[in-house]
This record gives sequence, structure tokens and C-alpha cells, in this order.
Amino acid sequence: MRLSRYFMPILKENPKEAEIVSHRLMLRAGMIRQQSQGIYSWLPLGKRVLDKVNAIIRDEQNRAGAIELSMPTLQSAELWQESGRYDAYGKEMLRIKDRQDRPMLYGPTNEEMVTDIFRSSVKSYKDLPLNLYHIQLKFRDEIRPRFGTMRSREFMMKDAYSFDLTREGAEHSYNKMFAAYLRTFDRLGLRAIPMRADTGPIGGKLSHEFIILADTGESEVFCHKDFVDFDIPGEHTDFDSVEGLQAIFDKWTSLYAATSEMHDQAAFNAVPEGDRLSARGIEVGHIFYFGTKYSEPMGAKVQGPDGKEHFVHMGSYGIGPTRLVPAIIEASHDDNGIIWPASVAPFDIVVINMKAGDQACDDTCELIYAALTKAGKDVLYDDTDDRAGTKFATADLIGVPVQIIAGPRAVANGEVEVKDRKTAARETMTIEAAINRFVA
Ligand code: ATP
Ligand code: MG
Repeated sequence: MRLSRYFMPILKENPKEAEIVSHRLMLRAGMIRQQSQGIYSWLPLGKRVLDKVNAIIRDEQNRAGAIELSMPTLQSAELWQESGRYDAYGKEMLRIKDRQDRPMLYGPTNEEMVTDIFRSSVKSYKDLPLNLYHIQLKFRDEIRPRFGTMRSREFMMKDAYSFDLTREGAEHSYNKMFAAYLRTFDRLGLRAIPMRADTGPIGGKLSHEFIILADTGESEVFCHKDFVDFDIPGEHTDFDSVEGLQAIFDKWTSLYAATSEMHDQAAFNAVPEGDRLSARGIEVGHIFYFGTKYSEPMGAKVQGPDGKEHFVHMGSYGIGPTRLVPAIIEASHDDNGIIWPASVAPFDIVVINMKAGDQACDDTCELIYAALTKAGKDVLYDDTDDRAGTKFATADLIGVPVQIIAGPRAVANGEVEVKDRKTAARETMTIEAAINRFVA
């Protein structure tokens, strides 16, 4: 992508409405724009990051055996009347009427709809277990939308829903998502700690919130500090192994970890004082087992091996991609801007032409840009006629992991500089060496 032809509206000044660093940097880097309170457009740079986050989420959901579909944002109120949640949900639900005066709503979550899909076609235990997910916009008329897309009214959610014949089966489905979540957040460059959580209005028994420690987090959390170094389940984790996944779950729930709603001070005091971590955190995911809470009122049942009908046991599993993007920034930035983990960076490499219009600089940059693009890298080429200082500031602000800098003096020697955004280490090397480093 040539910056001269891209759309990346950088702000020079700090926007005063932004209270936390991620919101400030997302606005300054031209990643998002607020359209009305708590409702955002994702501008091209932001959209790239969001897509990469979603690709990792999707990859790990698929690995764990979940199956993607797509459900609509607008739902009929009827389904919610069946489950009893239409009246219970309160003001967070945006209620709409269509031209026939039929009550509709903008979905805040999809338990009812997915249960309806399930009951319309699954009739036998032989079709279980089943886990269906989508990545879709949600709307919750939050009382206090704030911090940009961290807590917005319209936001994106990956929501998965599992269906099993028995409670034991449902626990295995829960453990699959538990392990998938550990892997997902790790690949996003984050350390998320599963904490015992309140099941809230959805109800149920088994529930964990995945929390990232950050001073700007809205939750107050208490946990054992060893969680920070626990091993993440590997790429070859067998998601069909009941014992294997149970062992992962047992290990990751063996030490104290709870949000303030579930906090038990006496239990926390039993943790040796030097191992206690009390901090603030950002909830980036939430998993629940809620048994037959929806399957019973909505009549979602299957025939079991005993020939009888059984209400299915369900769980739901949410991750917030539009919250994760700012959460990653909260965890990874410096005074100059964002520092993206390579896995979600909007571009892999930015090529900075320090003197656009200078033939040697232009030729060198074109050569590098073409070679790296051909090798499948996402390359941003800063070919604008801005001052070098402005270009450096922009490159640091948008957080692309690697900068290749071509200035007249180095280019005259057949060289460029390669700068690591995170460490700020710079290395001078031949043009060929710079290309080869990223092509190999
Ligand atoms: P919170 O306590 O932060 O309001 P929640 O418990 O209501 O979250 P869930 O219903 O479990 O959230 O939703 C699953 C995930 O969706 C959350 O873990 C979070 O990542 C994301 N999410 C929920 N509400 C919002 C929001 N208003 N803005 C952005 N992301 C959200
Ligand atoms: Mg909420």
C-alpha cells in the first residue's frame, strides 16, 4: 500500500475526549472515528488490525471444532418472549418496530436465535456435540459507553454456542473453549487469566472471565501471580481428549483468581502474601455453561440413546474483538505510539522514503516495496513528500513492527537502515540483505 494513495487520517494533537492511552492512540493513528455516542467506524488501518484479530479467533475456534455461521443483527422479539428474556433484559436492549409494527430488536447476544436454529434441525444425540459460532456486531445501549471501542454500544463479538446431550459432554465442550481461549489470547500477544465469574443475567453454574491485567481496566481482580508464567496449550493440543483438556482446565483453575464480584477475601488471604496479585483488568472473553436454561423453555431437545427425549445442555462463549484491539494497545505501547505484536500488525513492514523525488531513494524504495510485497508481506510504503521527521513519527505512532528507512546518504552506498519499532534498534545493511531478511 502506497501511503500517498491510502486513507490514514493521522491526528497531530491529542484528542481531548480520550481518557485512556488506547483510545488516544486509536484516534491519533486514524484507526476509528466515532459516529454517534458509542458507535464507531473502523477506518482502513483499524479495519486491518480488527481483521487480523478476527482471523486468529476464527482459526482457534475452528481448531477446537467450532463451526462458523452467520446470524443477523436484527432479531424478532418473539424468540426472546419464548425464553422469557424480552422483558427481563432491560434498557440495554435496543428495541425497534418494523413497518408492520412488529417488535424487533438489535441483538445484544444470540442464545435464543441459535437455539431456534438448533431445534429446527437437530433431532438426535448422534448429531452432538455441536458448537456454532459467528463473529457479528452486537448492540447494547450501555449506560456509560467510554474509552472508545473498549466499551461501546455497537461492538463486535465472537459468540459460540455449544450443544451436548449431557452435563459431562457440556463440560468437555466448555474445556475446549477454555483451551482455545488461552491459545487465542496468547497468539494476540496477550496474557489473559481465566477468573471465576458471576454468571449474571444469563445464569448458570460454570463461568470464567478472561482478564488482561491493565491499570486502565474497569474490573478489580485478585489472583495468584504464577498465572503470569503458566504454559499455554500447544498447537498440537488434542481437543478430542477429555482427560487432556480436563488437565489443562484443572491446572489453570488450580490457583486463586477472581473478579471483585466473586472475590473471597478469606480464600485470597490463604495465598502466600508475596504471591498475591491484586490489580485492575480488562475482560476480553467470557465463557458460561448454563445447562438447559434456554433449551427447556424453547423446546430444544434430542432423542438420546435410550430412545427418550432430552433437553440439550448448552454453553456460550464470547470474545470481544473490538475491545481486544484497544486492550492490545493498552498492553503494548510507548510514548511514541502503538507497538503491535507481529500477529495483528496492520502492516508487517513500513518502507520510509526519506526523500521522495530523489531518483536513487525512489528506485530503492520501489525495489524493496515490490520484492517484499511479492513475498507476501503486507507493506506500507511511505512515498509522501512529508518531512523525514514527520514520517518517522507517523511510523512510530502506527506501530508497524519493522521500518526500512531509505535516505540519500545510505542509498548512495547501496544501503538502508532497518529499525525495530519495539526496541528502536537500528541496523544498516545492504538493500539486498534488508530484503532477504524478510523474504526468507
Ligand atoms: P462487561 O462486564 O464488560 O459489560 P459482559 O459481561 O456484559 O461484559 P459478555 O456478555 O460476556 O460481556 O460479552 C462477551 C464479550 O463481549 C466480553 O468479554 C467483551 O469482550 C465483549 N463486550 C461486552 N460488552 C462490550 C461492549 N460494550 N463493548 C465492547 N465489547 C464488549
Ligand atoms: Mg456488559
